[in-house]
Amino acid sequence: MIKLPSSIYNSTKLVFIVMISLVLVFILNNVWQFISHIDELSFSKDSSLVTSDFSYTIDRDNSLDIKTLIKNKESKALFIPSLANDIPYELGHQSYWVKININNNTANIQSVVLHADNSRLAFFDVYKVNAILESTTQIAQQKPTPEQETLLDVFPHVAFDLLEKSTVQVIAHIKSNGPPNIPLILYSKENFDKRTDYVQMTFGIFIGIMLLMAAYNFVLFFATKDKVYLVYIGYLLSAFIVIAGVTGYGYLIFSKQIQYIIHEYSLFLDYFMIFFLLLFSLYFLRYDQIKGKFYRVGLTSCLLLILVAFYSLTLDQIAQTKLFFSIQPIFILYALFIIFRRLSKDFAWARFYFISWLPFLAGAAIQPLVLLNYVDSTFITRNAFLFAVMIEITFMAFALAERMRRNEQDRIHDISYHDFTKLPRKSMLENAMNEMKNSGENDFCVLIIKPEHIEQISLYIDDKANAALFKRLSRRLSSLFIHNDAIVELSSNHEKICFLENNCLAIIVNHEKNQQDLPILIKSIQQLISETFQIDDLKLPLSAVIGVANHPEHGSANYLLINHALLAVNDAQLVYGRWAYYQSEKSDHTSYLLKLATDLKAAIEHNTLAIYHQPQIDLKTLRVCSSECLIRWDHHREGFISPDIFIPLAEDLGLINQLTLWVIKRSLAQHQQILVNNNHMVSINISGKDIAHEHFFTNALSIIEESGIAAEKIILELTESASISHNQQSLELIQKLGDLGFTISIDDFGTGYSSMAQISHLPFQELKVDRQFVENVNDDHKRKTIAEATVKMAKGLGLEVVAEGINSQEDEDTLRSFGCDIGQGYYYAKPMPIDDYLDWLASQNNGRTQKRIDLDGEFIPADKI
Ligand code: C2E
Ligand code: MG
Ligand code: MG
Repeated sequence: MIKLPSSIYNSTKLVFIVMISLVLVFILNNVWQFISHIDELSFSKDSSLVTSDFSYTIDRDNSLDIKTLIKNKESKALFIPSLANDIPYELGHQSYWVKININNNTANIQSVVLHADNSRLAFFDVYKVNAILESTTQIAQQKPTPEQETLLDVFPHVAFDLLEKSTVQVIAHIKSNGPPNIPLILYSKENFDKRTDYVQMTFGIFIGIMLLMAAYNFVLFFATKDKVYLVYIGYLLSAFIVIAGVTGYGYLIFSKQIQYIIHEYSLFLDYFMIFFLLLFSLYFLRYDQIKGKFYRVGLTSCLLLILVAFYSLTLDQIAQTKLFFSIQPIFILYALFIIFRRLSKDFAWARFYFISWLPFLAGAAIQPLVLLNYVDSTFITRNAFLFAVMIEITFMAFALAERMRRNEQDRIHDISYHDFTKLPRKSMLENAMNEMKNSGENDFCVLIIKPEHIEQISLYIDDKANAALFKRLSRRLSSLFIHNDAIVELSSNHEKICFLENNCLAIIVNHEKNQQDLPILIKSIQQLISETFQIDDLKLPLSAVIGVANHPEHGSANYLLINHALLAVNDAQLVYGRWAYYQSEKSDHTSYLLKLATDLKAAIEHNTLAIYHQPQIDLKTLRVCSSECLIRWDHHREGFISPDIFIPLAEDLGLINQLTLWVIKRSLAQHQQILVNNNHMVSINISGKDIAHEHFFTNALSIIEESGIAAEKIILELTESASISHNQQSLELIQKLGDLGFTISIDDFGTGYSSMAQISHLPFQELKVDRQFVENVNDDHKRKTIAEATVKMAKGLGLEVVAEGINSQEDEDTLRSFGCDIGQGYYYAKPMPIDDYLDWLASQNNGRTQKRIDLDGEFIPADKI
């Protein structure tokens, strides 16, 4: 596929936008011309054919009648000359008498229409005056067809003919039930029909836009479940009903009864329009998501509006009108206030919505001014509100579309960026890799940077401090990468560093563009990171471990490359230089271990593991005092597998509890066999991962109880690190076990980092010196010194000391000379299955090893009954 460069794409887009805008401006201009032309249809604008002059009188108490008006001189004199548009209509109960002298200046008969442009008239009675006879005839409002009947409701009018070159005097008696202004306009019959057509067309367009918007937003609501669309539809409908009422156009689509109801409750409906507008502002601008005080005030205002709306029903029309127009601005101002608040924070976000308010405000201001007769009544001003709402809802739809785009953008941002560090996530790294592959750039690598000890460091700091650390790291690294084209950009914001959840940073290096050798780049990254970093007040020396996986050599799938680079990070921790490429053999090893773990679980469940016993010898009496139970696994394919391999595996994969419980059960069962003929103890290895679980001990204790073997006969071996590093809860558990009578033994002492002082206060009774200090103890001076010091110090603390790994008579003698109590090692016996062990025990001389019979003394297990 041919890819267009982004500059060409952008300028093409711009040309299209400009072209579409020009066409729209052209169409709108024509529509405007057309609308402006509508007013020119009336005679008042074209005085050469038919001219008219107006005079009026206000019938304050509605006491005048037509007869008096034309007969009574005084009454006649009441008429005040005026221009058609200048009759001072006011809100109130009064009616108006308007006298119009109409001159036909042409030599033809003119069919004319007198139109009272107010659809809420209480009456509109027009009389033709015969001045000579001082009589009148009422001009009937013809109602031949239902369609014309509707037109009469929307456009109250009377039609009559003017004879050639004649003057006709008519008197109109009018009163409004709604807005006070009643413009009287004279049309030729033909132009009046045109005007009604135009109005119907305008209203038709309005309904069309409305329905389209409503339907579209209804669909959007179902797609997004965002309430804002429903509120918008609520606004559309309320605006539509209000406008249908105000303009009288509602007669064109509603039944008379409905239109009467709309008229009757027009102000009540106005409240709903403001209600929806305010609610829309709250939802649109996402105040509902923040739920702050502005939202609460907004909602309360909405509620208040509804209450006032219902209250206003108890008032008469005039009081209702005054109440509405005096409180409406408060709510409009509040809506504007929350819009400005949003606008000041995020202009792009609220701009269309803000723009939509401008026509609305203009329309909302003009319409009442026309109805109250403060502004000239023209087709545009009288329909200002309708046009304003039309423009407004169009902009609102734009704003909603923009909001949707922003929501989508935010959603993508949330998916793409890490919450705390604000760095791109793994998905962006993968996208960048996909793009490279798609454009045929296959020679790249994923490089993962991990601050050393970050797992431990992150235990001491909160998420915020951790994020701050990574932000600072990435800022530093960005300055290193900014001019390096080989480091691939992950986003249009030119970000190059991605944050992986396990506290690592990752980048992609394009080998084709890389000018320097990879080791040099790695070195510079490490150098930059090794500068001291600060976390709160603590300055930490950080160092970076780096793993690299090459595409396609180390994997072609994105996830594989990333995982392999992560595996390489693990290897890097062990090598000089602290960085490593991924090694595929290692991966085979990993899957091998996984398979092994599956087999191990099966072995536990099918009882195919075995317990071997290795005797422990009381060095004073040389009698066998106990045996250490050691697990053996004869794998069906691999043969014997060392516990040094599968115990850590069981620990890592969470199988250890199950395994240890199995060992305890089996060891104790076998120990029952040993006890038949021997005074003997049993030593069982417990993993550090076991004591972290309280339920493990409950299970272990119930197994021990079931076995019937006294706690005093059982030694539990815990490795040094497991016993020291655990928390208070673990220590309490160990203490509890000691209290129950178990002997707690520290295994492999000397391999960990704990000092004798550290363990002195812990609840142990026995210490096992690791075999590396015992085996051939005499061959190495250092070893001997350590063994001696260890044994002596442990004895000084009152502990029983076991030396494991006794391989010879010399080892035994030396350890005994240091004061060691018990010996264990190949010198006496290798670990063996229970039957062999029972035979071995039976072959001993009174439980004493044959090797030396000259020694005597206290026999350790003897006091532990
Ligand atoms: P450990 O508890 O220190 O067990 C002693 C290890 O030293 C055993 O190795 C034993 O066979 C070996 N050993 C005894 N005498 C000598 C000697 O004179 N020379 C030499 N070179 N080695 C000697 P094994 O059975 O391979 O066990 C290794 C480790 O595996 C154990 O060390 C223990 O930490 C763990 N382990 C074994 N069985 C279990 C078990 O049932 N549960 C747990 N949690 N760990 C176990
Ligand atoms: Mg052990
Ligand atoms: Mg040991």
